[in-house]
Amino acid sequence: MTHGNPEFDLIARHFTRPAANAVLGVGDDAALVDVSNGMDLAVSTDTMVSGTHFFPDVDPENLGHKALAVNLSDMAAMGAMPYWAMLALTLPTVDHAWLEAFAKGFYDLAAEFNVSLIGGDTTRGPLTLTVTIMGEVPAGAALRRNGAKAGNDIWVSGNVGDAALAVAHRHGKVVLSEEDYREAVMRLYEPTPRVALGQALRGMATAAIDISDGLLADLGHICRLSGVGATVDLAYIPVSAIGARHSHDGPGLTAIVAGGDDYELCFTAPANARESIADLTDVLNIPLTRIGQIKRGKGVSLQAEGKPVKVDGRGYDHFSGT
Ligand code: ADP
Ligand code: MG
Repeated sequence: MTHGNPEFDLIARHFTRPAANAVLGVGDDAALVDVSNGMDLAVSTDTMVSGTHFFPDVDPENLGHKALAVNLSDMAAMGAMPYWAMLALTLPTVDHAWLEAFAKGFYDLAAEFNVSLIGGDTTRGPLTLTVTIMGEVPAGAALRRNGAKAGNDIWVSGNVGDAALAVAHRHGKVVLSEEDYREAVMRLYEPTPRVALGQALRGMATAAIDISDGLLADLGHICRLSGVGATVDLAYIPVSAIGARHSHDGPGLTAIVAGGDDYELCFTAPANARESIADLTDVLNIPLTRIGQIKRGKGVSLQAEGKPVKVDGRGYDHFSGT
């Protein structure tokens, strides 16, 4: 389809595929979706800016994956089922090979999660990607950040630190072997959103968040909104084999507890849910690890062998130092 207009050509060529879930997809002034009865619509947006959220030399296919993955992760953290995505693209130039690879990364992940791209916007400017995701969650059943209670356990899915270790390596703060870097950087570029886990935790978790800014910072958000504090035991924080090799030096430890970009879920649950949560590990084949406890008071304290541990940096803050 050619309109003789480069913007329309770009959209028609790269971002117009049938939207199985929508009443009306790309092409009109707005998309139309049919939200089921008894469901709340869950909506979230994430923007990624070149140089801030990704290295400018990133493989566009990885970037397409990541732009959608970080949004799917927000649906996971709410316990929502994602269905619809919007893509706002700001591009410095029109590079069809780049766009083709980007679209492949995006659509491949979308297909894996049965998500339809139903619209967006395309503009010229510094490379910036904004994805809006929408999904459904049974009315009143969404996992929120504000439900943690004193005495609850704190859990983390998978393991944390690899993505931040790859970034720290790129910045010369830690040195990974070539093989470790190659593996860790894939966690950075192609995170696995924990969508099935989020939905399975409905009615079980009292609060949940996805780890985008760092374990301590994101757990801190749960604490602040729930009006509680937390104690985390360093020895229990799950790390990969790569993480284990770097957890004993300062910058490595900082990457593990304060580095972002892992997109694992951190959630809280009462002690009587331990068995059901352990069962989820088997059903979903995702490690789930208990790392600490919610306490009365405020703030997150990190401990090792019962003594407080101080770590440099508490997670990524876009406006710190401004
Ligand atoms: P409008 O003039 O209403 O802003 P546009 O010309 O921006 O419409 O977009 C035309 C159609 O293409 C709309 O349905 C819009 O949602 C869709 N669209 C634009 N950019 C993208 C994109 N990057 N990805 C997916 N759909 C897009
Ligand atoms: Mg527009």
